[in-house]
Amino acid sequence: MFELNLTEEELKKRTDKTYLLTKTMISSDNESYKNLADGDKEALLHLLKAGKILEDVYLRQDNEKNKAFKKFLEDETSKGNERARLSLILFNAQKGMSAIDRESNMVYLAKGETSSDGKGFYPSDLTKEEFHSILIKMLKADKIDDVKNILTQRSMVVRDGEYLKGIDYTEFFKDEFTKAADELELAAKTSTNNDFNEYLILQAKALRDNDPMLDAYADKKWAELQEDAVLEFTISREQYADMLTGTVIENEELKQLLDENEIEPLAKDSIGIRIGIINKEGTENLLKIKKYIPLLAGYMPFKDEYEQNITEGDDKQTMVDVDLAALYGDEGAYRGGITVAQNLPNNDKLSLTIGGGRRNVYHRQIREIKDKEKLQKRLDATLDKDLHKYFDAEASHKFTIGHENVHSLGPKNGTEALGKYKNIIEENKADMGSMAFLDILVKEGMYTEEEKKQIIVTFCAGNFMKSEPPISQAHRVRSVMQTKYFLDHGAVSVDNEGRIHVDIEKVVPTAAKMLEEIIRIQIDRDFNKAEAYINKNFVWTDEMERVAKNLRTTDLELNGRVEYPLADELLK
Ligand SMILES: [Zn+2]
Repeated sequence: MFELNLTEEELKKRTDKTYLLTKTMISSDNESYKNLADGDKEALLHLLKAGKILEDVYLRQDNEKNKAFKKFLEDETSKGNERARLSLILFNAQKGMSAIDRESNMVYLAKGETSSDGKGFYPSDLTKEEFHSILIKMLKADKIDDVKNILTQRSMVVRDGEYLKGIDYTEFFKDEFTKAADELELAAKTSTNNDFNEYLILQAKALRDNDPMLDAYADKKWAELQEDAVLEFTISREQYADMLTGTVIENEELKQLLDENEIEPLAKDSIGIRIGIINKEGTENLLKIKKYIPLLAGYMPFKDEYEQNITEGDDKQTMVDVDLAALYGDEGAYRGGITVAQNLPNNDKLSLTIGGGRRNVYHRQIREIKDKEKLQKRLDATLDKDLHKYFDAEASHKFTIGHENVHSLGPKNGTEALGKYKNIIEENKADMGSMAFLDILVKEGMYTEEEKKQIIVTFCAGNFMKSEPPISQAHRVRSVMQTKYFLDHGAVSVDNEGRIHVDIEKVVPTAAKMLEEIIRIQIDRDFNKAEAYINKNFVWTDEMERVAKNLRTTDLELNGRVEYPLADELLK
Protein backbone atom coordinates (compact mmCIF):
# COMPACT_ATOMS: atom_id res chain seq x y z
CA MET A 1 0.00 0.00 0.00
CA PHE A 2 2.87 2.39 0.81
CA GLU A 3 6.50 2.31 -0.20
CA LEU A 4 9.20 3.82 1.98
CA ASN A 5 11.02 6.74 0.41
CA LEU A 6 14.28 7.25 2.30
CA THR A 7 17.21 4.85 2.06
CA GLU A 8 18.38 3.03 5.19
CA GLU A 9 21.55 5.11 5.16
CA GLU A 10 19.59 8.38 5.04
CA LEU A 11 17.24 7.20 7.77
CA LYS A 12 20.12 6.12 10.01
CA LYS A 13 21.72 9.51 9.61
CA ARG A 14 18.56 11.51 10.30
CA THR A 15 17.72 9.50 13.44
CA ASP A 16 21.25 9.59 14.85
CA LYS A 17 21.57 11.93 17.83
CA THR A 18 24.05 14.16 15.99
CA TYR A 19 21.38 14.95 13.39
CA LEU A 20 18.19 14.54 15.44
CA LEU A 21 17.71 17.14 18.17
CA THR A 22 15.67 15.89 21.14
CA LYS A 23 13.70 18.12 23.51
CA THR A 24 12.71 16.26 26.67
CA MET A 25 9.52 17.15 28.54
CA ILE A 26 9.26 16.64 32.32
CA SER A 27 9.58 13.25 34.01
CA SER A 28 8.03 12.08 37.30
CA ASP A 29 10.97 13.50 39.31
CA ASN A 30 10.23 17.08 38.20
CA GLU A 31 9.67 19.32 41.26
CA SER A 32 6.49 20.95 39.92
CA TYR A 33 5.00 17.51 39.37
CA LYS A 34 6.05 16.14 42.76
CA ASN A 35 4.43 19.12 44.48
CA LEU A 36 1.03 18.63 42.84
CA ALA A 37 -1.98 17.71 44.98
CA ASP A 38 -3.38 14.24 44.27
CA GLY A 39 -6.45 15.72 42.59
CA ASP A 40 -4.26 17.69 40.19
CA LYS A 41 -2.18 14.62 39.39
CA GLU A 42 -5.39 12.78 38.55
CA ALA A 43 -6.56 15.69 36.41
CA LEU A 44 -3.23 15.78 34.57
CA LEU A 45 -3.69 12.17 33.53
CA HIS A 46 -7.09 12.95 31.98
CA LEU A 47 -5.67 15.97 30.20
CA LEU A 48 -2.90 13.84 28.72
CA LYS A 49 -5.50 11.35 27.50
CA ALA A 50 -7.47 14.17 25.88
CA GLY A 51 -4.32 15.48 24.22
CA LYS A 52 -3.40 12.12 22.81
CA ILE A 53 -6.90 11.71 21.33
CA LEU A 54 -6.77 15.16 19.74
CA GLU A 55 -3.39 14.45 18.18
CA ASP A 56 -5.24 12.22 15.69
CA VAL A 57 -7.23 15.28 14.63
CA TYR A 58 -4.04 17.11 13.76
CA LEU A 59 -2.67 14.15 11.80
CA ARG A 60 -5.84 14.08 9.72
CA GLN A 61 -5.79 17.86 9.18
CA ASP A 62 -2.19 17.64 8.00
CA ASN A 63 -2.67 14.80 5.49
CA GLU A 64 -5.55 12.42 4.87
CA LYS A 65 -3.11 9.50 4.55
CA ASN A 66 -1.15 10.17 7.77
CA LYS A 67 -3.04 7.72 9.95
CA ALA A 68 -2.95 4.89 7.43
CA PHE A 69 0.76 5.49 6.87
CA LYS A 70 1.46 5.49 10.60
CA LYS A 71 -0.35 2.17 10.95
CA PHE A 72 1.66 0.79 8.01
CA LEU A 73 4.91 1.85 9.72
CA GLU A 74 3.86 0.26 13.01
CA ASP A 75 2.86 -3.02 11.35
CA GLU A 76 6.08 -3.18 9.33
CA THR A 77 8.14 -2.35 12.42
CA SER A 78 6.59 -5.23 14.33
CA LYS A 79 7.60 -7.51 11.44
CA GLY A 80 11.20 -6.42 11.92
CA ASN A 81 11.42 -3.94 9.02
CA GLU A 82 14.32 -1.66 10.03
CA ARG A 83 13.59 1.08 7.48
CA ALA A 84 10.01 1.24 8.77
CA ARG A 85 11.22 1.49 12.37
CA LEU A 86 13.51 4.42 11.53
CA SER A 87 10.84 6.07 9.37
CA LEU A 88 8.45 5.82 12.32
CA ILE A 89 10.90 7.73 14.53
CA LEU A 90 10.89 10.57 11.98
CA PHE A 91 7.11 10.35 11.51
CA ASN A 92 6.59 10.81 15.25
CA ALA A 93 9.14 13.63 15.32
CA GLN A 94 7.62 15.71 12.52
CA LYS A 95 4.12 14.34 13.18
CA GLY A 96 3.31 13.55 9.60
CA MET A 97 4.49 11.83 6.45
CA SER A 98 5.85 15.01 4.83
CA ALA A 99 7.45 17.98 6.54
CA ILE A 100 10.20 20.55 6.17
CA ASP A 101 13.55 19.98 7.95
CA ARG A 102 15.94 22.44 9.60
CA GLU A 103 17.74 23.15 6.32
CA SER A 104 14.45 23.92 4.54
CA ASN A 105 14.32 20.65 2.58
CA MET A 106 11.10 18.65 2.40
CA VAL A 107 11.31 15.20 3.97
CA TYR A 108 8.91 12.72 2.32
CA LEU A 109 8.72 9.44 4.20
CA ALA A 110 6.48 7.66 1.67
CA LYS A 111 7.50 7.28 -1.98
CA GLY A 112 5.33 9.19 -4.45
CA GLU A 113 3.47 11.05 -1.72
CA THR A 114 3.69 14.84 -1.58
CA SER A 115 2.05 17.56 0.46
CA SER A 116 -0.50 19.95 -1.03
CA ASP A 117 -1.10 23.62 -0.17
CA GLY A 118 -4.50 22.73 1.28
CA LYS A 119 -2.91 20.04 3.49
CA GLY A 120 -5.53 17.56 4.74
CA PHE A 121 -8.13 20.33 5.05
CA TYR A 122 -8.99 20.06 1.36
CA PRO A 123 -9.22 17.14 -1.10
CA SER A 124 -5.59 16.32 -1.95
CA ASP A 125 -6.23 16.50 -5.74
CA LEU A 126 -7.79 19.96 -5.58
CA THR A 127 -5.63 22.53 -7.39
CA LYS A 128 -5.74 26.24 -6.69
CA GLU A 129 -7.34 26.90 -10.09
CA GLU A 130 -10.08 24.30 -9.61
CA PHE A 131 -10.71 25.56 -6.07
CA HIS A 132 -11.23 29.11 -7.33
CA SER A 133 -13.46 28.08 -10.21
CA ILE A 134 -15.70 25.90 -8.03
CA LEU A 135 -16.14 28.76 -5.55
CA ILE A 136 -17.06 31.13 -8.38
CA LYS A 137 -19.59 28.61 -9.70
CA MET A 138 -21.10 28.18 -6.22
CA LEU A 139 -21.37 31.93 -5.60
CA LYS A 140 -23.03 32.42 -8.98
CA ALA A 141 -25.50 29.66 -8.03
CA ASP A 142 -26.23 31.66 -4.87
CA LYS A 143 -24.74 29.05 -2.53
CA ILE A 144 -23.55 31.77 -0.14
CA ASP A 145 -23.78 29.87 3.14
CA ASP A 146 -22.09 26.84 1.61
CA VAL A 147 -19.14 28.99 0.54
CA LYS A 148 -18.98 30.53 4.02
CA ASN A 149 -18.74 27.02 5.45
CA ILE A 150 -15.82 26.29 3.14
CA LEU A 151 -13.87 29.47 3.95
CA THR A 152 -14.06 29.35 7.77
CA GLN A 153 -11.19 28.34 10.09
CA ARG A 154 -13.31 25.51 11.52
CA SER A 155 -14.15 23.27 8.59
CA MET A 156 -12.78 20.28 6.70
CA VAL A 157 -13.59 20.50 3.00
CA VAL A 158 -14.75 17.55 0.87
CA ARG A 159 -16.06 17.12 -2.67
CA ASP A 160 -19.83 17.20 -3.11
CA GLY A 161 -20.66 16.34 -6.72
CA GLU A 162 -19.42 19.24 -8.84
CA TYR A 163 -19.18 21.42 -5.74
CA LEU A 164 -17.27 21.43 -2.45
CA LYS A 165 -18.67 21.15 1.06
CA GLY A 166 -17.26 22.44 4.37
CA ILE A 167 -17.95 20.24 7.39
CA ASP A 168 -17.53 21.83 10.83
CA TYR A 169 -14.73 20.23 12.88
CA THR A 170 -17.14 19.32 15.67
CA GLU A 171 -18.95 17.11 13.15
CA PHE A 172 -16.04 15.85 11.07
CA PHE A 173 -14.14 14.84 14.22
CA LYS A 174 -17.19 14.02 16.34
CA ASP A 175 -15.67 10.81 17.66
CA GLU A 176 -12.33 12.34 18.76
CA PHE A 177 -13.88 15.58 20.05
CA THR A 178 -16.46 13.71 22.15
CA LYS A 179 -13.89 11.43 23.73
CA ALA A 180 -11.61 14.38 24.48
CA ALA A 181 -14.53 16.34 25.98
CA ASP A 182 -15.28 13.37 28.28
CA GLU A 183 -11.68 13.46 29.55
CA LEU A 184 -11.78 17.23 30.14
CA GLU A 185 -14.92 16.84 32.23
CA LEU A 186 -13.27 14.10 34.28
CA ALA A 187 -10.23 16.35 34.83
CA ALA A 188 -12.55 19.15 36.02
CA LYS A 189 -13.88 16.84 38.73
CA THR A 190 -10.53 16.46 40.49
CA SER A 191 -8.37 19.49 39.68
CA THR A 192 -8.06 21.85 42.67
CA ASN A 193 -8.51 25.16 40.86
CA ASN A 194 -12.11 26.26 40.30
CA ASP A 195 -11.38 28.75 37.53
CA PHE A 196 -9.42 26.15 35.63
CA ASN A 197 -12.28 23.68 36.05
CA GLU A 198 -14.73 26.23 34.73
CA TYR A 199 -12.51 26.64 31.68
CA LEU A 200 -12.30 22.87 31.13
CA ILE A 201 -16.10 22.60 31.18
CA LEU A 202 -16.40 25.46 28.66
CA GLN A 203 -13.76 23.85 26.44
CA ALA A 204 -15.57 20.49 26.61
CA LYS A 205 -18.79 22.19 25.50
CA ALA A 206 -16.98 23.83 22.58
CA LEU A 207 -15.76 20.42 21.46
CA ARG A 208 -19.26 18.91 21.58
CA ASP A 209 -21.35 21.48 19.71
CA ASN A 210 -21.11 23.29 16.39
CA ASP A 211 -21.18 26.85 17.73
CA PRO A 212 -18.18 29.21 17.26
CA MET A 213 -19.27 31.28 20.27
CA LEU A 214 -18.56 28.31 22.52
CA ASP A 215 -14.90 28.44 21.46
CA ALA A 216 -14.93 32.17 22.22
CA TYR A 217 -16.23 31.62 25.78
CA ALA A 218 -13.62 28.92 26.41
CA ASP A 219 -10.80 31.08 24.97
CA LYS A 220 -11.88 34.06 27.06
CA LYS A 221 -11.87 32.07 30.28
CA TRP A 222 -8.53 30.44 29.44
CA ALA A 223 -6.88 33.81 28.79
CA GLU A 224 -7.91 35.02 32.27
CA LEU A 225 -6.23 32.20 34.22
CA GLN A 226 -3.43 33.61 36.38
CA GLU A 227 -3.97 33.70 40.17
CA ASP A 228 -3.50 30.29 41.80
CA ALA A 229 -3.34 28.57 38.42
CA VAL A 230 -1.76 25.12 38.78
CA LEU A 231 -2.20 23.18 35.54
CA GLU A 232 -1.96 24.38 31.95
CA PHE A 233 -4.09 22.93 29.17
CA THR A 234 -4.37 24.60 25.80
CA ILE A 235 -6.02 23.67 22.54
CA SER A 236 -4.17 25.99 20.19
CA ARG A 237 -5.79 26.89 16.89
CA GLU A 238 -3.28 28.58 14.59
CA GLN A 239 -3.38 29.24 10.87
CA TYR A 240 0.16 28.78 9.61
CA ALA A 241 -0.27 25.40 7.87
CA ASP A 242 -3.10 26.01 5.36
CA MET A 243 -1.67 27.76 2.30
CA LEU A 244 -4.74 27.35 0.07
CA THR A 245 -7.63 29.28 1.64
CA GLY A 246 -5.74 32.61 1.54
CA THR A 247 -5.19 32.37 -2.23
CA VAL A 248 -8.82 33.28 -2.97
CA ILE A 249 -7.98 37.00 -2.80
CA GLU A 250 -5.48 36.53 -5.68
CA ASN A 251 -8.36 35.78 -8.13
CA GLU A 252 -9.97 39.11 -9.13
CA GLU A 253 -13.38 37.73 -10.11
CA LEU A 254 -13.61 35.58 -7.01
CA LYS A 255 -12.43 38.35 -4.70
CA GLN A 256 -15.12 40.64 -6.03
CA LEU A 257 -17.83 38.02 -5.53
CA LEU A 258 -16.62 37.38 -1.99
CA ASP A 259 -16.64 41.12 -1.22
CA GLU A 260 -20.15 41.52 -2.64
CA ASN A 261 -21.39 38.72 -0.40
CA GLU A 262 -19.36 39.94 2.61
CA ILE A 263 -17.48 36.69 3.00
CA GLU A 264 -14.13 36.94 4.79
CA PRO A 265 -11.88 33.98 3.94
CA LEU A 266 -9.98 32.70 7.00
CA ALA A 267 -7.20 30.10 6.83
CA LYS A 268 -7.86 26.80 8.60
CA ASP A 269 -6.98 26.21 12.24
CA SER A 270 -4.52 23.44 12.95
CA ILE A 271 -5.18 21.76 16.28
CA GLY A 272 -2.34 21.69 18.81
CA ILE A 273 -2.43 20.59 22.42
CA ARG A 274 -0.23 21.75 25.30
CA ILE A 275 -0.30 20.12 28.74
CA GLY A 276 1.86 21.15 31.67
CA ILE A 277 2.29 22.49 35.17
CA ILE A 278 2.70 26.17 35.91
CA ASN A 279 6.14 27.00 37.29
CA LYS A 280 5.68 29.58 40.06
CA GLU A 281 9.14 31.11 40.09
CA GLY A 282 9.35 31.37 36.31
CA THR A 283 5.88 32.94 36.20
CA GLU A 284 6.72 35.57 38.86
CA ASN A 285 9.74 36.49 36.78
CA LEU A 286 7.62 36.93 33.64
CA LEU A 287 5.10 39.15 35.37
CA LYS A 288 7.77 41.78 36.03
CA ILE A 289 7.32 43.19 32.52
CA LYS A 290 3.56 43.55 32.91
CA LYS A 291 3.57 46.98 34.54
CA TYR A 292 5.65 48.43 31.69
CA ILE A 293 3.32 47.39 28.87
CA PRO A 294 1.00 50.44 29.00
CA LEU A 295 4.13 52.62 29.08
CA LEU A 296 5.56 50.83 26.02
CA ALA A 297 2.23 51.28 24.22
CA GLY A 298 2.89 55.01 24.52
CA TYR A 299 6.19 54.60 22.67
CA MET A 300 4.72 52.71 19.69
CA PRO A 301 5.31 54.58 16.39
CA PHE A 302 2.34 56.59 15.02
CA LYS A 303 0.34 55.59 18.10
CA ASP A 304 -2.32 58.26 17.50
CA GLU A 305 -3.28 56.84 14.12
CA TYR A 306 -4.83 53.57 15.29
CA GLU A 307 -6.55 51.81 18.13
CA GLN A 308 -3.92 50.07 20.28
CA ASN A 309 -4.28 46.39 20.96
CA ILE A 310 -3.70 47.22 24.62
CA THR A 311 -4.83 50.46 26.20
CA GLU A 312 -3.85 52.26 29.41
CA GLY A 313 -5.05 50.39 32.49
CA ASP A 314 -5.84 47.31 30.42
CA ASP A 315 -5.09 44.34 32.62
CA LYS A 316 -6.15 41.55 30.32
CA GLN A 317 -2.77 40.11 29.45
CA THR A 318 -1.91 37.01 31.50
CA MET A 319 1.42 35.15 31.36
CA VAL A 320 2.69 31.85 32.67
CA ASP A 321 5.91 29.86 32.52
CA VAL A 322 5.11 26.18 32.09
CA ASP A 323 6.88 22.92 32.87
CA LEU A 324 5.66 20.87 29.93
CA ALA A 325 4.34 17.32 30.21
CA ALA A 326 3.37 17.03 26.54
CA LEU A 327 2.97 18.92 23.27
CA TYR A 328 0.66 17.08 20.90
CA GLY A 329 -0.53 17.81 17.38
CA ASP A 330 0.55 21.11 15.85
CA GLU A 331 2.24 22.19 19.11
CA GLY A 332 4.64 19.25 19.11
CA ALA A 333 5.30 18.80 15.40
CA TYR A 334 8.99 19.57 14.89
CA ARG A 335 9.12 21.12 11.43
CA GLY A 336 12.16 23.27 10.87
CA GLY A 337 11.81 24.35 14.49
CA ILE A 338 9.44 24.39 17.43
CA THR A 339 7.96 27.29 19.35
CA VAL A 340 9.44 28.56 22.66
CA ALA A 341 6.39 30.65 23.57
CA GLN A 342 2.98 31.70 22.28
CA ASN A 343 0.66 34.66 22.66
CA LEU A 344 -2.92 33.50 21.98
CA PRO A 345 -5.69 33.81 20.85
CA ASN A 346 -4.67 35.31 17.52
CA ASN A 347 -6.44 38.34 16.02
CA ASP A 348 -8.90 36.29 13.95
CA LYS A 349 -10.51 34.70 17.01
CA LEU A 350 -14.00 35.59 18.25
CA SER A 351 -13.09 35.79 21.95
CA LEU A 352 -11.33 39.10 21.24
CA THR A 353 -14.67 40.54 20.07
CA ILE A 354 -16.41 39.75 23.39
CA GLY A 355 -13.84 41.43 25.64
CA GLY A 356 -11.49 38.47 25.93
CA GLY A 357 -7.78 39.06 26.52
CA ARG A 358 -4.66 37.17 25.57
CA ARG A 359 -2.39 34.79 27.37
CA ASN A 360 1.35 34.21 26.93
CA VAL A 361 2.60 30.74 27.64
CA TYR A 362 6.36 30.07 27.77
CA HIS A 363 7.81 26.60 27.21
CA ARG A 364 10.57 25.88 29.77
CA GLN A 365 11.69 22.52 28.38
CA ILE A 366 11.88 23.84 24.82
CA ARG A 367 14.13 26.78 25.64
CA GLU A 368 16.61 24.68 27.66
CA ILE A 369 20.03 24.31 26.02
CA LYS A 370 21.54 21.04 27.16
CA ASP A 371 24.65 20.72 25.04
CA LYS A 372 26.96 23.56 26.15
CA GLU A 373 29.93 22.13 24.28
CA LYS A 374 28.13 22.23 20.98
CA LEU A 375 27.00 25.78 21.66
CA GLN A 376 30.63 26.84 22.27
CA LYS A 377 31.69 25.27 18.96
CA ARG A 378 28.97 27.21 17.20
CA LEU A 379 30.03 30.48 18.83
CA ASP A 380 33.69 29.87 17.98
CA ALA A 381 32.76 29.43 14.33
CA THR A 382 30.25 32.26 13.96
CA LEU A 383 30.66 35.05 16.53
CA ASP A 384 33.35 37.69 17.22
CA LYS A 385 35.35 36.33 20.18
CA ASP A 386 34.98 39.57 22.17
CA LEU A 387 31.19 39.13 22.12
CA HIS A 388 31.07 35.56 23.46
CA LYS A 389 30.75 36.87 27.01
CA TYR A 390 27.40 38.42 26.09
CA PHE A 391 25.85 35.32 24.53
CA ASP A 392 23.46 33.92 27.09
CA ALA A 393 20.48 31.52 27.02
CA GLU A 394 18.64 33.52 29.67
CA ALA A 395 19.01 36.64 27.47
CA SER A 396 17.28 34.76 24.69
CA HIS A 397 14.34 34.15 27.04
CA LYS A 398 14.28 37.87 27.94
CA PHE A 399 14.17 38.70 24.25
CA THR A 400 11.23 36.29 23.82
CA ILE A 401 9.36 37.97 26.68
CA GLY A 402 9.68 41.27 24.82
CA HIS A 403 8.62 39.63 21.55
CA GLU A 404 5.45 38.05 22.96
CA ASN A 405 4.38 41.25 24.69
CA VAL A 406 4.93 43.42 21.62
CA HIS A 407 2.45 41.15 19.79
CA SER A 408 -0.11 42.81 22.09
CA LEU A 409 0.89 46.32 20.95
CA GLY A 410 0.29 48.10 17.65
CA PRO A 411 -2.74 48.33 15.35
CA LYS A 412 -5.59 46.16 16.55
CA ASN A 413 -7.46 45.74 13.28
CA GLY A 414 -6.98 45.51 9.55
CA THR A 415 -3.81 43.49 9.10
CA GLU A 416 -5.82 40.82 7.18
CA ALA A 417 -5.44 43.17 4.20
CA LEU A 418 -1.76 42.19 4.02
CA GLY A 419 -2.82 38.71 2.87
CA LYS A 420 -0.05 36.13 2.79
CA TYR A 421 2.44 38.67 4.20
CA LYS A 422 0.41 39.27 7.37
CA ASN A 423 2.25 36.72 9.52
CA ILE A 424 5.76 37.72 8.40
CA ILE A 425 5.10 41.38 9.15
CA GLU A 426 3.50 40.63 12.50
CA GLU A 427 6.49 38.52 13.60
CA ASN A 428 8.85 41.21 12.33
CA LYS A 429 6.97 43.76 14.44
CA ALA A 430 7.26 41.66 17.60
CA ASP A 431 11.03 41.20 17.15
CA MET A 432 11.80 44.84 16.40
CA GLY A 433 9.63 46.05 19.28
CA SER A 434 11.48 43.74 21.63
CA MET A 435 14.78 45.35 20.55
CA ALA A 436 13.59 48.93 20.14
CA PHE A 437 12.30 49.22 23.72
CA LEU A 438 15.46 47.99 25.45
CA ASP A 439 16.74 51.49 26.32
CA ILE A 440 13.40 52.38 27.89
CA LEU A 441 13.37 49.17 29.94
CA VAL A 442 16.93 49.86 31.13
CA LYS A 443 15.93 53.37 32.14
CA GLU A 444 12.90 52.00 34.00
CA GLY A 445 15.10 49.53 35.88
CA MET A 446 13.73 46.35 34.34
CA TYR A 447 17.11 45.44 32.83
CA THR A 448 20.72 46.46 33.57
CA GLU A 449 23.04 47.86 30.88
CA GLU A 450 24.85 44.48 30.92
CA GLU A 451 21.60 42.55 30.39
CA LYS A 452 20.76 44.84 27.48
CA LYS A 453 24.08 43.98 25.80
CA GLN A 454 23.41 40.28 26.34
CA ILE A 455 19.94 40.51 24.81
CA ILE A 456 21.28 42.44 21.79
CA VAL A 457 24.20 40.12 21.02
CA THR A 458 22.18 36.95 21.60
CA PHE A 459 19.42 38.23 19.33
CA CYS A 460 21.70 39.43 16.52
CA ALA A 461 23.65 36.15 16.45
CA GLY A 462 20.45 34.09 16.64
CA ASN A 463 19.02 35.91 13.64
CA PHE A 464 21.46 34.24 11.24
CA MET A 465 19.99 31.13 9.57
CA LYS A 466 21.53 27.81 8.50
CA SER A 467 19.97 28.10 5.04
CA GLU A 468 17.75 30.37 3.00
CA PRO A 469 14.14 29.66 4.04
CA PRO A 470 11.18 29.43 1.62
CA ILE A 471 8.67 32.32 1.74
CA SER A 472 6.12 30.04 3.47
CA GLN A 473 8.20 30.00 6.68
CA ALA A 474 7.13 33.31 8.21
CA HIS A 475 9.33 33.10 11.29
CA ARG A 476 12.54 32.39 9.41
CA VAL A 477 11.84 34.82 6.57
CA ARG A 478 11.55 37.66 9.05
CA SER A 479 14.94 36.72 10.56
CA VAL A 480 16.57 37.06 7.14
CA MET A 481 14.85 40.42 6.62
CA GLN A 482 16.10 41.70 9.95
CA THR A 483 19.67 40.63 9.30
CA LYS A 484 19.53 42.32 5.89
CA TYR A 485 18.27 45.53 7.49
CA PHE A 486 20.87 45.40 10.28
CA LEU A 487 23.65 44.75 7.75
CA ASP A 488 22.48 47.68 5.61
CA HIS A 489 22.46 49.99 8.63
CA GLY A 490 25.84 48.87 9.98
CA ALA A 491 24.41 47.41 13.20
CA VAL A 492 25.90 44.03 12.32
CA SER A 493 28.66 42.97 9.94
CA VAL A 494 30.30 39.71 8.87
CA ASP A 495 34.05 39.25 8.30
CA ASN A 496 35.64 37.07 5.62
CA GLU A 497 35.83 34.08 7.96
CA GLY A 498 32.05 34.23 8.42
CA ARG A 499 32.09 35.64 11.96
CA ILE A 500 29.40 38.05 13.11
CA HIS A 501 30.30 41.45 14.60
CA VAL A 502 27.74 43.61 16.37
CA ASP A 503 27.88 47.40 16.79
CA ILE A 504 25.89 47.32 20.03
CA GLU A 505 25.08 51.05 20.11
CA LYS A 506 23.49 50.94 16.65
CA VAL A 507 21.07 48.08 17.32
CA VAL A 508 18.31 49.83 19.29
CA PRO A 509 18.00 52.84 16.92
CA THR A 510 18.08 50.54 13.87
CA ALA A 511 15.34 48.35 15.32
CA ALA A 512 13.28 51.45 16.12
CA LYS A 513 13.62 52.57 12.51
CA MET A 514 12.51 49.20 11.16
CA LEU A 515 9.60 49.13 13.62
CA GLU A 516 8.40 52.47 12.18
CA GLU A 517 8.40 51.04 8.65
CA ILE A 518 6.44 47.99 9.82
CA ILE A 519 3.76 49.91 11.70
CA ARG A 520 3.33 52.23 8.73
CA ILE A 521 2.56 49.20 6.53
CA GLN A 522 0.13 47.78 9.09
CA ILE A 523 -1.69 51.12 9.32
CA ASP A 524 -1.83 51.60 5.53
CA ARG A 525 -3.25 48.07 4.98
CA ASP A 526 -1.68 48.04 1.53
CA PHE A 527 -0.84 44.59 0.11
CA ASN A 528 1.50 46.03 -2.56
CA LYS A 529 3.48 48.07 -0.05
CA ALA A 530 3.84 44.98 2.14
CA GLU A 531 5.10 43.01 -0.86
CA ALA A 532 7.62 45.69 -1.83
CA TYR A 533 8.91 45.91 1.76
CA ILE A 534 9.39 42.15 1.94
CA ASN A 535 11.06 41.92 -1.46
CA LYS A 536 13.46 44.67 -0.45
CA ASN A 537 14.53 42.98 2.79
CA PHE A 538 14.09 39.27 2.17
CA VAL A 539 17.44 38.92 0.42
CA TRP A 540 19.88 36.12 1.12
CA THR A 541 23.26 37.91 0.99
CA ASP A 542 26.88 36.71 0.72
CA GLU A 543 27.43 37.66 4.36
CA MET A 544 24.55 35.41 5.40
CA GLU A 545 25.87 32.54 3.31
CA ARG A 546 29.33 32.87 4.90
CA VAL A 547 27.81 32.50 8.38
CA ALA A 548 25.42 29.76 7.17
CA LYS A 549 28.39 27.72 5.94
CA ASN A 550 29.93 27.85 9.42
CA LEU A 551 26.59 27.04 11.04
CA ARG A 552 26.13 23.99 8.81
CA THR A 553 29.51 22.58 9.84
CA THR A 554 28.98 23.08 13.59
CA ASP A 555 25.23 22.55 13.91
CA LEU A 556 24.47 19.32 12.08
CA GLU A 557 20.87 18.88 13.24
CA LEU A 558 18.43 18.17 10.43
CA ASN A 559 15.33 17.04 12.34
CA GLY A 560 14.03 17.45 15.86
CA ARG A 561 11.62 15.70 18.20
CA VAL A 562 9.87 16.03 21.52
CA GLU A 563 10.01 13.22 24.10
CA TYR A 564 7.47 12.77 26.90
CA PRO A 565 8.85 10.69 29.84
CA LEU A 566 6.08 11.59 32.33
CA ALA A 567 3.26 11.25 29.82
CA ASP A 568 4.59 7.90 28.60
CA GLU A 569 4.84 6.65 32.18
CA LEU A 570 1.34 7.80 33.14
CA LEU A 571 -0.38 6.64 29.97
CA LYS A 572 1.24 3.18 29.98
ZN1 LIG B 1 5.58 35.76 17.56
